[in-house]
Amino acid sequence: MGAFKSTPVTPPPEPEVTEEKKQQEEPYVIPDTYLGARRPIRVIVIGFGYSGINIAYVLGKQTKNANIDLQFYDKNPELGGTWYENSYPGCMCDIVS
Ligand SMILES: Cc1cc2nc3c(=O)[nH]c(=O)nc-3n(C[C@H](O)[C@H](O)[C@H](O)COP(=O)(O)OP(=O)(O)OC[C@H]3O[C@@H](n4cnc5c(N)ncnc54)[C@H](O)[C@@H]3O)c2cc1C
Repeated sequence: MGAFKSTPVTPPPEPEVTEEKKQQEEPYVIPDTYLGARRPIRVIVIGFGYSGINIAYVLGKQTKNANIDLQFYDKNPELGGTWYENSYPGCMCDIVS
């Protein structure tokens, strides 16, 4: 019989624990909320001119109880956009409106 030659055996690599696998292994947690509750939505609007004012109005009116966190940013210190930047001193309406 010839001499027996053994080759070193390297252990197989540990299986990678992916985020998906971790989630599968974790027990399901029942959310502490009621059926039909709307998930919170964060809305950011750049510009608080007439379009921004309209968005605030429309979102407020059409999405009641919608759990919306609405945040406006504007380069001006006040809202109004064009109508903040341009004023017409003395200009007025000459009819009842
Ligand atoms: C002199 C003038 C007269 C006009 N007259 C009439 C009229 O008689 N009737 C009419 O219907 N329309 C008129 N217009 C058009 C007018 O632009 C629109 O009526 C209306 O104001 C447009 O609204 P808006 O919100 O879309 O834009 P804007 O009113 O321009 O609002 C845009 C907002 O975005 C902000 N913004 C812009 N860039 C940034 C940034 N990078 N970061 C943060 N904030 C930013 C601005 O500060 C502004 O508040 C007139 C326009 C001008 C300039």
